[in-house]
Amino acid sequence: MSNPEGSESSHFDVVVVGGGPAGYASALYGAAAGLNIAMIEKGKLGGTCLNVGCIPAKELLETAAVFRTVQHASMFGVQTGTDSPGIDFSVTQTRKQGVIDTLVSGLAGLLKHRKVTVFDGIGQVTSTGATKSVRISGGASEATTITGDNLIIAAGSVPRTIPGFDVDGTTIVTSDELLSIQQLPARAAVIGGGAIGIEFASMMADLGTQVTVLEAMPKIIPGVDPDAARVVERSLKKRGVDIRTGVMVSGHETIDGGAKRVSFGEDQSVDVDMVVLSIGRRPFPDLLGLDAVGVPVDERGFIPVDEACRTSVPGVWAVGDIIATAQLAHIGFAEGMVAIRGVLGEDPQPVDYLNVPWCIYCHPEVAFAGHTEESAKEAGFDVVTSTHKFTGNGRAMIVGETEGLVKVIAEKQADGRAGRMLGVHMVGPWVTEQLGQGYMAINWEATIDEIAAFIQPHPTMSELFGETVMALTGRALHG
Ligand code: FAD
Repeated sequence: MSNPEGSESSHFDVVVVGGGPAGYASALYGAAAGLNIAMIEKGKLGGTCLNVGCIPAKELLETAAVFRTVQHASMFGVQTGTDSPGIDFSVTQTRKQGVIDTLVSGLAGLLKHRKVTVFDGIGQVTSTGATKSVRISGGASEATTITGDNLIIAAGSVPRTIPGFDVDGTTIVTSDELLSIQQLPARAAVIGGGAIGIEFASMMADLGTQVTVLEAMPKIIPGVDPDAARVVERSLKKRGVDIRTGVMVSGHETIDGGAKRVSFGEDQSVDVDMVVLSIGRRPFPDLLGLDAVGVPVDERGFIPVDEACRTSVPGVWAVGDIIATAQLAHIGFAEGMVAIRGVLGEDPQPVDYLNVPWCIYCHPEVAFAGHTEESAKEAGFDVVTSTHKFTGNGRAMIVGETEGLVKVIAEKQADGRAGRMLGVHMVGPWVTEQLGQGYMAINWEATIDEIAAFIQPHPTMSELFGETVMALTGRALHG
């Protein structure tokens, strides 16, 4: 990482603390606008997302997809010599790390190209007056203090843990450790049935682990439209995943051979070789020293901000997982850009959190944006909905993955016809790659009639979206 030559103290237009998606997006976007930027990262460039989050998780899920494909190859007449393929997880891990390393070095190259000065060390904020100061120490960069006219805090989050479940990296793990294990456990309990927990359950189940999901809420993947969530639940159960909802985990004990007996609900337990804690992430302001400089941090650890990501201290912004908005990499990107536009005095449009895209990469995949049927009604809309299943979609049949559906929610007009599109919910093959047009339609405030006029290429999975929208005009083709 670079350090300004021979200088013990340097001044920048913007100092960014944290080199994850929110921090590096701020840095790259600011540098593209001509600002002189410093970015401080204590760990690896790319933060959680590139190193222990989105990228490794999706890479391992892709391994599961390849495994499923090989398992079902004979269905296509492709002879692989075995109906029960094996897995060498160390090769999987090497490939995963290769993808990460390429992305991290690509990011380093981009930052260098944009002339962002990157410091390797812990950033501690020491002054938030007209000039902001950050002390850097404990990393590869020489200990120093830098100053800036503006400060963007993007210190991210870390996995939450459960008291009594001490993470040892082998039998009790969080996502940080799970994503680097060299061998899959025979039996695993995933505590937490949210997006990340369900991705892990799906991946491990497909690769041969006997998985039990323990979720305190009445449903897995809360927040997902119930019709879509049901498809995922059914699929996981069909693939042998034991899903227990509405249960609290109460503790664990070590049993024969170092395995764990996890207790939950009313006197129930499950014996497993690995416990995966997947109960969410907490913000990480721990090393920033914000108390001493008057930047508020709430009781949960989040930095309070307004809709333009400004803290209560002039010239100090906070973005990404450190603020109480959806903990997603692309939200961090968007917030980083909002903050930079604020620095530039451009009066940025705030992120419209209701209508951001969400994707879950379990099998089958989930993708959605905008209102669910329930939330639209709660918001006072009179709604009409249309739901179509992938079972009749030609491309889905060709691929051999017909599980899933598309559901569109639209505002009901006074004449009873469907008006503006309010939400789109997809579950099924490659839906994370199909959300784009629904997302765009919602944010463009397009009407059902307008969207129905667009032509979907044939044969594609996205025809199902077109069909679902057309049905709301009263004139479907196939539905
Ligand atoms: P982080 O990525 O956590 O980065 C913060 C950085 O700041 C870290 O590198 C940290 O070392 C550094 N830092 C902290 N304090 C200091 C300090 N004082 N000085 C210097 N450096 C500091 N999101 C999606 O959108 N799609 C997905 O598919 C997805 N999958 C996920 C899967 C998993 C298993 C996990 C765990 C997360 C996933 N996420 C996903 C969430 C996504 O990774 C986070 O929302 C995103 O990384 C947050 O970005 P951030 O920059 O705010 O924080």
